[in-house]
Amino acid sequence: MPQLCAAWGCTNRSTIENRSRGITFHRFPKNKELRRQWEVALRREGFSASESSVLCNEHFKPEDFDRTGQIVRIRDGAKPSIFSFPPHLQRVCFIVTGL
Ligand SMILES: [Zn+2]
Repeated sequence: MPQLCAAWGCTNRSTIENRSRGITFHRFPKNKELRRQWEVALRREGFSASESSVLCNEHFKPEDFDRTGQIVRIRDGAKPSIFSFPPHLQRVCFIVTGL
């Protein structure tokens, strides 16, 4: 089964088609603290990332990526910050991102 992006309202799956369109999928960090920050950034109640949970590249800023290698990676310490939250979560989102 292709992995579905864990972000709210995002329906990107890690299929070959999506990958060939330039969408990349990234596993949650192994580092516990950073992983927790990603989970919090998702704002999904009760969500905890599993070994196979992924986020697609649409939730990261261009500067969050390390494109120097053959594989596009998320830079150490970078956190997902771009989400299309439903209205009842948006206010919280603004506080988190400091907008
Ligand atoms: Zn996504």
